[in-house]
Amino acid sequence: MNRKSQNDEAITGCERVRAQLEEYVHAELTADETKVFDEHMRTCPECTSEHQLSRVLTEVIVRGCREEAPEGLKLRVVARLRSLHAEH
Ligand SMILES: [Zn+2]
Repeated sequence: MNRKSQNDEAITGCERVRAQLEEYVHAELTADETKVFDEHMRTCPECTSEHQLSRVLTEVIVRGCREEAPEGLKLRVVARLRSLHAEH
């Protein structure tokens, strides 16, 4: 994948959100970064959907640490959320 810009402050769009999604889900972003994230989520249904997907996946994976997450379950969760998103 190409990164078109390296300028942190200028990138507030989907590309940046997707890049930091995992950190956001794990609450590893700074307060400022989280704010930018929340703002973007409010205006971008696509990233909101990606975020929900990541959150669900994270829960599945965390649970899997105790129970052995079946790979199939993870894929089913992804497929279900993707199809929900596709209905728009
Ligand atoms: Zn977006």
